[in-house]
Amino acid sequence: MNLKLFENDQQLVHGEVTIADSLMPPAAWGTYSIRLPNDSLPQDKLVQIKVILWSCMDRRIVRPLFDNLIKDGYAENEILTVSMGGGPLQVGEDRIQAIKTAFMELQTKLPNVQKIVAVAHTGICGGLKHFCGGIPITEAVKVEFKAQAVEKGVNLEVYLTDLILENCLSLLPNSWQIKTHLNIAEPDETSKTVRIHPHESRATYTLSEIVDGHESQYA
Ligand SMILES: [Zn+2]
Repeated sequence: MNLKLFENDQQLVHGEVTIADSLMPPAAWGTYSIRLPNDSLPQDKLVQIKVILWSCMDRRIVRPLFDNLIKDGYAENEILTVSMGGGPLQVGEDRIQAIKTAFMELQTKLPNVQKIVAVAHTGICGGLKHFCGGIPITEAVKVEFKAQAVEKGVNLEVYLTDLILENCLSLLPNSWQIKTHLNIAEPDETSKTVRIHPHESRATYTLSEIVDGHESQYA
C-alpha cells in the first residue's frame, strides 16, 4: 500500500500537523494528525486491533473521536487510526484508489476488527472545502439542496455532509461494510469535544452532483 500522497494534505491547513503511522494515536486537541497505514506495521500489533477510526485529520475532531473510543472501553493498542483530509469523504481517482487498495490489504492483516467508525465533520472541513474548489460546501452547494435543508429544518452543513457520506462504503472491503458506523462530528471548541450526528440520509449523492461548478453564482 502506498498512501504517501495523503501526506500532502498538510498543505491544506494552517497550523501544526503531525504525520505518523496508524498505530500512533492522534496528537492532542489543537494539532492536526495525519495517520496512515503502511506495509511495515508489525503483525503482532495488527492482530490486537479491534476498531478502525477513519476520520478527517482535523485538529478539533480526530483526537476527541479517539478519546471517545477509549471511553467506550477500547485500549489504545486496539485502535487503528486512519486520518487524512476529509477522512471518509474522498474525491479524486488517485486518492480513492490508494485508500481502497490500502483497506483491501489491511483486511487480511486485521483478523480481529469488530467495527469501523467512519466520521466526517462540520465546522468547515478543510478537505471537503478543497474538494469543492476552495469554497465551503454550504456555499458551493446547488440551491435545491439548500432549499431541502431549510424545508426539513435541519442544519445545512450536517445535511449536506450526510448526503455524501455513504459513498465511503465503496472504499471498504465488503466484509467491513456491514461493520461500519457512519457519523458526522460537530466540533465544540469550548469543551474540546465533538457532538455526534448519526448518518440518517436515505439518499446518497456524489459531491459533484450536489455542488455547482467552480464558476458558481456564489463565487
Ligand atoms: Zn476535515
